[in-house]
Amino acid sequence: MELSKEDLAVLISAEGEECGALFQLADQVRQRYLGEEVHLRGIVEFSNYCRNNCLFCGLRRNNWELSRYRMAPDEILESAHEAAGLGCKTIVLQSGEDEYYTAGILAELVHRIKKGLDVAVTLSVGDRPRADYETLRQAGADRYLLKQETCDPVLFGMLKPGSSLAGRIEKLRWLGELGFQVGSGNMVGLPGQTVETLAGDITLMRELKVEMAGIGPFIPNSQTPLGNCPGGTLELTLKTLAAARLAMRLVHLPATTAVRTIHPLGRERALRSGANVIMPNMTPLKYRTNYQLYPGKTGLGETPEESYATAVKAVHDAGRKVASGYGHSLTYAKS
Ligand code: SF4
Repeated sequence: MELSKEDLAVLISAEGEECGALFQLADQVRQRYLGEEVHLRGIVEFSNYCRNNCLFCGLRRNNWELSRYRMAPDEILESAHEAAGLGCKTIVLQSGEDEYYTAGILAELVHRIKKGLDVAVTLSVGDRPRADYETLRQAGADRYLLKQETCDPVLFGMLKPGSSLAGRIEKLRWLGELGFQVGSGNMVGLPGQTVETLAGDITLMRELKVEMAGIGPFIPNSQTPLGNCPGGTLELTLKTLAAARLAMRLVHLPATTAVRTIHPLGRERALRSGANVIMPNMTPLKYRTNYQLYPGKTGLGETPEESYATAVKAVHDAGRKVASGYGHSLTYAKS
């Protein structure tokens, strides 16, 4: 039986002992459908330039306090090699919306990574024309991450000036049509958000048949217009994550860096509430401090080796094991 939006809102509203039962049930569903493996996907944050001005994000165009950087393709490739050498079976290439990296540059990079390394490649480079997505898919990119952030069209328009939820949904559909394994995600605790919005986020991702749902807390950044808003809590984030696991049994759910940032054991708690992915940071140390979507991001002083090691430790501390495969998506047909 499919959980309705109303059912999901009830689950996300759980209080006290009900929360423990929700987390346990999500953990059992994860165990039954996905087993004990946790996929470690190495993320390389290769540029913090962004043409957009999202109200919540430290990379926003008008954040003049941020030092900007771009990694050269050879440097990105080197980081990908390092990540693969450590054991990552997926390389996630992420940046702000930086037009410096044309589809041609990115396609060449993807081609070189796929040719030289035994890894899957995820791209997270934002809104692009459909022709760009086609080029990137043809170059061999396996997955694309484009977060919806919120299913509330008014809130979306406020948070991301100049863009619309409808436009984002259209792009998510294109990506699926082009054969990408598609990732979306939302923030928990946004100003003006309700439990019903969070339930709607989950049903939208289910409707879009996303293969990955990145659900993390909103963390206010003083260098943005939302700097004085309260942030999302660990508990609400875990409840949303657990409800997502119950609604989408085979979806990949990361234990996010943001959840680790708001609580030292956030990542382990997420792994026990339905999550099955960790994305250790493979960005060279010299760039890392300048890729802060939100303040206080953990792991900024960790080398890629240390990031990988702490991720492995989190997996083992949660009584789980590191996955050996690529972690390609399991289809919804099996759910
Ligand atoms: S959320 Fe993405 S598109 Fe928006 S400012 Fe940040 S990096 Fe740019």
